[in-house]
Amino acid sequence: MRAIFLDRDGILNAAVVRQGRPHPPGAAATLEILPGVEDACRRLRNAGFLLVCVTNQPDIARGTTTRSAVDAINAALGASLGIRNFVVCPHDDADRCDCRKPLPGMLLAAAAEHAIDLPGSVMVGDRWRDVAAGRAAGCRTVFVDHGYAEERPSRPDFICRGLAEAAEWIIAGMAWREGEQPMTVAERVKIFADGADIQGIAALARNPVIKGFTTNPTLMRAAGVTDYLQFARAVLSIERSRPISFEVFADEPDEMHRQAILLSGLSANVYVKIPVTNTRGESCAALIRSLVAEGVRLNVTALLTLPQVLTVADALRDSAHAFISVFAGRIADTGRDPLPVMQGALDIIGRQHELELIWASPREVYNIYQAAAIGCHAITVSSDLLMKLNLGGKDLDEFSLETVRMFHADAAAAGYRLSDANG
Ligand SMILES: [Mg+2]
Repeated sequence: MRAIFLDRDGILNAAVVRQGRPHPPGAAATLEILPGVEDACRRLRNAGFLLVCVTNQPDIARGTTTRSAVDAINAALGASLGIRNFVVCPHDDADRCDCRKPLPGMLLAAAAEHAIDLPGSVMVGDRWRDVAAGRAAGCRTVFVDHGYAEERPSRPDFICRGLAEAAEWIIAGMAWREGEQPMTVAERVKIFADGADIQGIAALARNPVIKGFTTNPTLMRAAGVTDYLQFARAVLSIERSRPISFEVFADEPDEMHRQAILLSGLSANVYVKIPVTNTRGESCAALIRSLVAEGVRLNVTALLTLPQVLTVADALRDSAHAFISVFAGRIADTGRDPLPVMQGALDIIGRQHELELIWASPREVYNIYQAAAIGCHAITVSSDLLMKLNLGGKDLDEFSLETVRMFHADAAAAGYRLSDANG
């Protein structure tokens, strides 16, 4: 995947400038996010980039601030901007570390952890050290010029006044650079495998394209699962890091709550699926709120309308991270275009960085492209659709020829003959 490496002070938040030189804010309380940064982060994320903040904080080594003060500022930025990855160098030059920019250690460590394509990635910073670190890591570089009274970087790829302009330049250039492969669709939307067949899940777990798993009682029943807990444990013995959603099947809030706590306790990667209502159509919002308060990771499911998205997003407001599953395919089944609903759902949850939208119940492989195009976070995909993903971009004349040959070969294999009825 590609990343945007973001310097912190002067890029995300205002730096404190003394004698023409920038310094970090002292505490989270005085943190000031720069104009346009929130929107730029959202646009970059929607374009499929992983956002990674890489920041030199030598004041820790100098004893003029603490690691916890730095972390508190990062946490506040992360919450406001939806950035989950912060890499901090706490050293000063004398420590001779390999992480302090202009050395590329922080970028290389993040690249190793997240399988980042460095030549496809960009470093954005406001000092020469940022640009030098980005180039040393093999990334393109953007210099945000605040006119500091200090050495300027040499040869950044782009110079601008802030992250909003940087994002515009990055997004405009991302697909059309000569000789560069456009991002595959699986890099732009997370593919969650939908199923309940344990052998199938084991096979999919070896596929790096799969970023998570979802199940539901209907799929489990079809797969012949009789013991729910045994099935859940078997799946978790295969996969303990990528998110896996298991659904509660009770109908009364107390029992749903009990099941949710039990499922959630099985593993840290379990997301508990709670339906938007029970079978009497009564909202599960209160249950969702209480589970959020207890730290249960949720995937609220079976939503088909925007009023439902509004209610659920509000109920999930205090969660650390949660999914909302909108059943686009079921909307389409009724003759309605699901795209405006999915786009509307993204607009509703857009300001809640803890929430991710899942395009549930896709009906055709093209839905994966649609989900990616609107910046939907994830899509559940059955294995038959997954197999068609490698048809992406296939030449249509060639595909036509293969189709003709398939008809011909099947007719021959069946031994069909058309003979004169009287013959
Ligand atoms: Mg800076």
